[in-house]
Amino acid sequence: MADGAGNNFDIVILGGGSGGYACALRAVQLGKTVALVEKSKLGGTCLHWGCIPTKALLHTAEVADMSRESETFGIKSTFEGIDMAKVNSYKDGVVDRLYKGLQGLIKSGGITVVEGEGKLVDAKTVEVGGERYTGTNVVLATGSVSRTLGLEIGGRVVTSTEALTMTEVPEKVVIIGGSVIGVEFASVWKSFGADVTIIEGLPTLVPLEDPTLSKGLERAFRKRKINFKTGVKFDSVKQTDDGVTVTLENGDTIETDLVLVAVGRGPNSAGMGFEEAGITVDRGWVPTNERLATNVDGVFAVGDLVPGLQLAHRGFAHGIFVAEEIAGLNPQVVVDSGIPRVTYCEPEIASVGITEPQAREKYGDDNVETIEYNLGGNGKSQILATAGTVKLVREKDGPIVGVHMIGARFGEQVGEASLMVNWEAYPEDVAQFIHAHPTQNEALGEAALALAGKPLHSHA
Ligand SMILES: Cc1cc2nc3c(=O)[nH]c(=O)nc-3n(C[C@H](O)[C@H](O)[C@H](O)COP(=O)(O)OP(=O)(O)OC[C@H]3O[C@@H](n4cnc5c(N)ncnc54)[C@H](O)[C@@H]3O)c2cc1C
Repeated sequence: MADGAGNNFDIVILGGGSGGYACALRAVQLGKTVALVEKSKLGGTCLHWGCIPTKALLHTAEVADMSRESETFGIKSTFEGIDMAKVNSYKDGVVDRLYKGLQGLIKSGGITVVEGEGKLVDAKTVEVGGERYTGTNVVLATGSVSRTLGLEIGGRVVTSTEALTMTEVPEKVVIIGGSVIGVEFASVWKSFGADVTIIEGLPTLVPLEDPTLSKGLERAFRKRKINFKTGVKFDSVKQTDDGVTVTLENGDTIETDLVLVAVGRGPNSAGMGFEEAGITVDRGWVPTNERLATNVDGVFAVGDLVPGLQLAHRGFAHGIFVAEEIAGLNPQVVVDSGIPRVTYCEPEIASVGITEPQAREKYGDDNVETIEYNLGGNGKSQILATAGTVKLVREKDGPIVGVHMIGARFGEQVGEASLMVNWEAYPEDVAQFIHAHPTQNEALGEAALALAGKPLHSHA
């Protein structure tokens, strides 16, 4: 075992985000020596510019909506506006506390943190500021960056990173991209009082989700007066002194104060010496086999850098997997379709497994059964005054292969959904388990009851 002396380690990890730091923590638990190279902040995108700050903003948005709608529940209060300085200090406070906690974990784990920008000089060696760190194994975990479709970012044209540090609520905003990041910011800004328009090139919002969820979100956004144009691409974006003009391919123009470019994220690997070290790179991504090994022996890749779902918990799972693989524990592979996905707009979307169209393609039209349980029948959803659906997709006479949910706070229900799909549960199995009343979790039990042929509170 390399003892870390003379900069020789069992594992050198390039990038200290979700994938990289999870790998480091698990590897030291398994007795490995680890160098973790990070050029910016441990915790990476998720902690500093992604999951955590956006969800803090979404929580403030929920509070704003509650104060506006409190009358519905018999509470007298008035909504007087958004104090962005306080919103930002609350958000930053959450991030800071988690950041301190993470730094403590990394330190107490005995991980050698190398601060600075790293570059591979060969398949076993990372150079940082002129110093070389050699690993018996190297893990690439450099993550992803916002795609911009050639648009110049600056001034009134921003990506999610700049959008997280805004000091004012824009009056009007156009969001290019109606997928996860786009609809989350749309939800926040609408709750903060902005006039929001989403432009999505594909035919629906959240186009990668089951069509039932896309339709449900569009219905909910219409009700919230969030504007969206689907099936149309933008053509150009022009900044003037006092605004931005967005021109669409169909010739329409929209005048706005701010444009958020939320068209997905691409790999972060340029100029890091991967190809020179013999590692196959495909349009910036680092392809791996299912055991997350690259084409070069002893070099692994994890997280957003590996083509597939871009989620922090996928990064954690990848990191843990690779540490255990290197330690010879033969861990179970991480399969993307088994990873739960949550979009935290209002209403929330949560899903796991395959969609109905994917199931029809996989099993054939006659071999798929679905049920859509309407939250109109769920007591807790009625108490929260939310509408929505829980949809189960099963292989005919077989297990549940997809769970798709929409409704306020439904992200919290994805745990059981994940167990259903990953344990290949039959609706009849789930129907036997008692779900507490009144909870939104009951909706999953009710959907399973209905799919097992014995519906209880099912409304058409
Ligand atoms: C706005 C937004 C919201 C999101 N919300 C969610 C969410 O709610 N839930 C969820 O699961 N996911 C969410 N994500 C996605 C999530 O952030 C990513 O999937 C996750 O961060 C990927 O982890 P990673 O380790 O692969 O990469 P990253 O977290 O990007 O980490 C890579 C790290 O490598 C470092 N690095 C890069 N190059 C070098 C170099 N040459 N030398 C040294 N260090 C280097 C970077 O500084 C960075 O810290 C969100 C993303 C965004 C942008």
